Amino acid sequence: MTRRPSFPARIDFSHGQPTPAKKAGTVANGGLRAVVERVLVKPQGMGMDSVAVRASMVQKLAAQGISDAAVLQAMATVERHRFVDPALVNQAYEDTSLPIGLGQTISKPNVVARMMELLRHGVPGKLGRVLEIGTGCGYQAAVLSQLATEVYSIERLRGLHDKARENLRTLRLANLHLLFGDGMAGFPRGAPYAAIIAAAGGDAIPPAWLEQLAVGGRLVAPMVAGGGRQALVVVDKTAQGLKQTLLEAVHFVPLKSGIA
Ligand code: SAH
Repeated sequence: MTRRPSFPARIDFSHGQPTPAKKAGTVANGGLRAVVERVLVKPQGMGMDSVAVRASMVQKLAAQGISDAAVLQAMATVERHRFVDPALVNQAYEDTSLPIGLGQTISKPNVVARMMELLRHGVPGKLGRVLEIGTGCGYQAAVLSQLATEVYSIERLRGLHDKARENLRTLRLANLHLLFGDGMAGFPRGAPYAAIIAAAGGDAIPPAWLEQLAVGGRLVAPMVAGGGRQALVVVDKTAQGLKQTLLEAVHFVPLKSGIA
């Protein structure tokens, strides 16, 4: 597997310093450094410093109404371009969903941030244990790892589970645990969860998720609501029972059972 360069691509000039060109025209246009940068950096579409690109994405999120500072900080920290196909790197910080293979998509930054904000609902400090259904490429799991003490993320497609593992390896997020399996059943061994988040939507919230949610905990998930359209659903589990709130329309991939 080819390794992706880090961004901005760091080029080590400490060895083999370019010697002045023997013949005029051998290394034109600013010498070896410029040539290497043209070849290595520009085609990646991330010639700019990715910190600045993320800062601008975060500014847009704030302008769109995301106000939780911890969420904005997490969005500024996690390098979204590491999780998308090299051919899509230059779109990594646009407010758009992107294909991640096997017919699945990574949600647009605004939707990720919105769900994180709903999940935290202003509670100070970090969330406790969180379960994510639908690891996909691992991006949202990485964002969650910034906001929770422990994250369990489950994926039903082996190809994506492996891809997420690869994408996340160099980040060494010790509090993030990737699981391969059918998330419809949740992950009882990690229960109860302070929060549960799903990145795929079914016709109803699977009962296992509600069982595994701690009292005082919150679940955020897409669900097919009225008229066959998906909406975001928030379920709060209180000592008095479950309270469900239907929010805005969303477009997530379907929640499916079994593994593949
Ligand atoms: N959060 C992801 C988004 C991935 S899209 C990211 O940041 O990339 C939703 C994912 O949910 C898909 O990868 C899909 O395979 C997965 N999925 C659907 N049904 C599932 C189930 N029952 N259990 C686990 N994962 C499921």
